[in-house]
Amino acid sequence: MNELGPSPLAAGERNLGVDEARAAIAAALVPLPRSESLEVPLHEADGRVLAADVVSPIDVPAHDNSAMDGYAFAGAALRADGPTVLRATGTVVAGAPYGGTLGAGQCLRVMTGAVMPAGADTVVPLELVRVQGTPDGGEVHIPPGVIRPGENRRKRGEDLAAGKAALAAGRVLRPADVGLAASLGLTRVRVMRPLRVALFSTGDEVTEPGAPLAPGCIYDSNRFSLGAALRRLGMEVVDLGLVRDDRAALAAVVARAVREADAVVTSGGVSAGDADYTRDILARHGDVAFWKVAMRPGRPFAFGLLRREGAGGLAPGPAGEAPPPSSWLFALPGNPVAALVTFYAFVREALLVLAGANAAPLPVLSARSTAPIRKRPGRTEFQRAIVEPARDGGGWQVRLFGSQGAGVLRSMSEANALVVLAHDQGSVAAGEPVPVWLFDGLV
Ligand code: AMP
Ligand code: MG
Repeated sequence: MNELGPSPLAAGERNLGVDEARAAIAAALVPLPRSESLEVPLHEADGRVLAADVVSPIDVPAHDNSAMDGYAFAGAALRADGPTVLRATGTVVAGAPYGGTLGAGQCLRVMTGAVMPAGADTVVPLELVRVQGTPDGGEVHIPPGVIRPGENRRKRGEDLAAGKAALAAGRVLRPADVGLAASLGLTRVRVMRPLRVALFSTGDEVTEPGAPLAPGCIYDSNRFSLGAALRRLGMEVVDLGLVRDDRAALAAVVARAVREADAVVTSGGVSAGDADYTRDILARHGDVAFWKVAMRPGRPFAFGLLRREGAGGLAPGPAGEAPPPSSWLFALPGNPVAALVTFYAFVREALLVLAGANAAPLPVLSARSTAPIRKRPGRTEFQRAIVEPARDGGGWQVRLFGSQGAGVLRSMSEANALVVLAHDQGSVAAGEPVPVWLFDGLV
């Protein structure tokens, strides 16, 4: 197991860049053991994390077969100096193999996918031959040079040999993967149990939707946006509701979250101006680092490992032993846009890793900015934007969109992408390419 070494988690509050924060999180994470898995039927497999390699029990394809509609024959019969003339002896279709063996000078009409008849290793496509007489009994003339021996035959096991891994453990299954498992004759796959993620919002002003809104209060949106993002990632959400800015209430919910979940995602209450007891309580439960990340939006962020009460210390056990009972904490800023941006920047990939997935970073698109963008070097900036096909000359263009205020959730909803301007980047000129995260397919 990885240790949460003295740096960076042991420090109180630290300033660090987005990349440093991501690296510190990645270095600390310990995935669920592969043994925490279950078998599911294929129709429940999409989006799950594969817990064991899917090994093919069969050769795919199971037989040498024809890649074309045409005539199957022995390639050795081909002549270079003139047409090759063969006698058709019948037709085979996919699923009804030919019982006999082709003799010298014979060919067989085959449909795509038909098992290659014994004695044949080559298929000449229909459109390349001239047939005199009936298609499955006449004389087939193959002009010289149109085909080489062995062409248009798919070999047994060519796609996948029996005993080979068709899908590797850690893969997040997609529709094609589910189809691939079915094509091997499998009905079930072994997947990781979903990660349980406890989710709560903090703040005295934060109100449950549906309840009347008192003066100065706002409805809780973070628990709903973050809950939706978590469910899209395949996480099992343990919704712990709203928590008052109150020491005892927070201590109780943290204790419950750690008892019930593998990870805890919270929003609000970690800014420098917030009551000290948040840090107190979190710090008392484990090793938690409070960071001021050089990013906009999303500066305050806390990450750490919370102990289950009575579970003892965090010292790792001998190699192979299950990690101590504990729960990973991701405390996000309260501002609704900042909460989502920090989720995408730090939490998404971390939770996938914890869930046992081979998590890849978000794909980045390059798009030309339609207008100049002001940017100060020394922090990473995430700006809401609209990406669309470029009007001139192909590719993609991007324009900033709406208010960039950290609290304006509508701008996040109306945008279809985030422009991500790197730490050292300065202002951007119109027409310059910038990196973009697309919301479509994000989580
Ligand atoms: P905080 O990080 O607690 O200082 O909150 C920063 C801002 O985000 C404040 O304006 C809060 O009212 C707002 N906020 C905090 N939590 C939520 C939430 N769950 N939903 C919507 N806005 C929130
Ligand atoms: Mg608050």
